[in-house]
Amino acid sequence: MPRQRDFYEILGVSKDASQEEIRKAYLKLAHQYHPDKTGGDKAAEEKLKEVNAAYDTLKNPEKRKQYDAMSSNPFGDMGGFGGFGSAGPAGSAGSAGGGFDAPFDDFFDVLFGRGGGGGARGHRRTMRPGNDLEYRVKISLREAARGVQRTIRFSRSETCPDCNGSGAARGSQPTVCPECHGSGQVRRSQGFFSISQPCPRCGGAGRIVTNPCSRCSGRGSVKVDREIKVDLPAGIDTGQRLRVAGEGEPGEGGGPRGDLYILVEVEHDDIFQRDGNDVICQVPISFPQAVLGDKIRVPTLNGEAELKIPAGAQSGQLFRMRGLGIPDVHGYHQGDQIVRIQVETPTRLTKEQRELIERFRDLSSSQNYPLHRRFLETAKRFFGGG
Ligand SMILES: [Zn+2]
Ligand SMILES: [Zn+2]
Repeated sequence: MPRQRDFYEILGVSKDASQEEIRKAYLKLAHQYHPDKTGGDKAAEEKLKEVNAAYDTLKNPEKRKQYDAMSSNPFGDMGGFGGFGSAGPAGSAGSAGGGFDAPFDDFFDVLFGRGGGGGARGHRRTMRPGNDLEYRVKISLREAARGVQRTIRFSRSETCPDCNGSGAARGSQPTVCPECHGSGQVRRSQGFFSISQPCPRCGGAGRIVTNPCSRCSGRGSVKVDREIKVDLPAGIDTGQRLRVAGEGEPGEGGGPRGDLYILVEVEHDDIFQRDGNDVICQVPISFPQAVLGDKIRVPTLNGEAELKIPAGAQSGQLFRMRGLGIPDVHGYHQGDQIVRIQVETPTRLTKEQRELIERFRDLSSSQNYPLHRRFLETAKRFFGGG
């Protein structure tokens, strides 16, 4: 278990450096190890994480004071500090952006490959971004077409306000684990070998709480119900995820909060079928409407609209109503509504209706049925005129 380096050492400044000196040292190192400069070099990435963790604590005079107090403690190794969590999320909990400046947040996205997962692999316990949370939300097609605001209620961990994340009861402190003496690791001999494993007593934290905080039972965190409003943009579709930055679980050791992902499911609609940004709607019309033409009212996502059916409309014919579909989620384009006509053959005729249809039949010629005539000609050729 490598010992954690001192935050001042990481930034290359003295313990009595001014805030401005700390800031300058940080900016210099952040530039030096930025992925744009290093082409994604893993070692540089690790360095940058260290630098970020150090700066996150030292840039904040309050956190710096806590840190100084902790590291002047004879047992105060840096790993223990990270394990406490007192430097990290406590200060940032509750503020919407997780306490990080906005550009800094983007920085972490690049660093930890958020959303890609696995960013914290092989990471020491110095600093760890919080876990992401996922929340599923179902909306109707009409809501998807217009956009909708939803109130999301979920439960997430917060740093315990009573013990400030240490897990120790008020007035007490966690003590160095007697089993591993604060390293968080124990060595077990196996024949000739000795292997290192996380300390079973403290779970790798290096410290144990003998007098646990009553509010969090020593865990250092409590579950808190949270309610936020989320705007789902018009055009959103099933399977799309919306990221709400900094609303996930708190990080450790100064790491940023994870994100909350809203996973959207658009419910089945009885009238409209979605096809990308278009919506398809099947409308039955009567036999005379198809023959004579008509103006009909059709439902759209924005209420009713009029559609002109030309005389001689065929069953299955499609009519495009421009701009009455769903807006593109990126706002570049608006889909159409496509109406598929279904000509309904009349049934349960009265005697008089039947007589009229029979009379119509007798008066019809192949002129009235070009499709049927063409079909007969093709079929005749197919059977060789026989
Ligand atoms: Zn507590
Ligand atoms: Zn231990």
